[in-house]
Amino acid sequence: MEKLLRIAIDGPSGAGKSTMAKILAKDLNIDYIDTGAMYRAIALKIFRTGIDPNNAEDLAKLLKETDVDYSKGSVFLDGENVDGFIRTQEVSEMASVSSAIPAVREKLVALQKAMGERKSLVMDGRDIGTNVLTGAECKFFLTASAHVRALRRAKEYEEKGLPCNVEQVEADIQTRDYRDSHRATNPLKQADDAVLIDSSDMTIGEVVDEMKKYIQKV
Ligand code: C5P
Repeated sequence: MEKLLRIAIDGPSGAGKSTMAKILAKDLNIDYIDTGAMYRAIALKIFRTGIDPNNAEDLAKLLKETDVDYSKGSVFLDGENVDGFIRTQEVSEMASVSSAIPAVREKLVALQKAMGERKSLVMDGRDIGTNVLTGAECKFFLTASAHVRALRRAKEYEEKGLPCNVEQVEADIQTRDYRDSHRATNPLKQADDAVLIDSSDMTIGEVVDEMKKYIQKV
């Protein structure tokens, strides 16, 4: 049987996980799965239907009727490509809240585990090394200071011509970090066997090189 190479990248928002994951997937010619996009797709559906995510009955019904998939760099909600709708401030906030609800995690973690069962891939998120792909051949925990992450996010907003206030972006990042690392189910945490990389003072190329050093050893 062909040897699998599953790379798990976890860390707080804005640490550069998806940038690194995309580069590695392309260079290694394997799939990339953005699990955050899947949580965002559920959050979008909650918005669109207007249900209260804290109403367990309504949420269970919605999850039962919802199909989420990630394929070829795009996220699909009930068959619709929703890439263009999931990066708004509102969806980010809703995803941060709804991803802490156990029923939401149960559904998406099962899908993500199945994706990582049979093929090589790079998956990024918050609980990949600790929960989704515990047997991943290579695990990274990528982080950076909240200030550096806020500056990076602010630059992205500026490039898109969107107004933004760096202090506000940093405060939002800190709120989401807190929620991610303090929730009861699958909190953001470095796996014991994950390599820690702090990208605060590193370029994209330096981080990729550092990751490849470990990947080559697998
Ligand atoms: O990574 P991204 O910011 O797109 O993720 C959106 C939200 O989904 C995050 O706020 C985080 O709380 C949640 N998430 C998660 N578990 C993952 C991936 C993302 O809880 N594996």
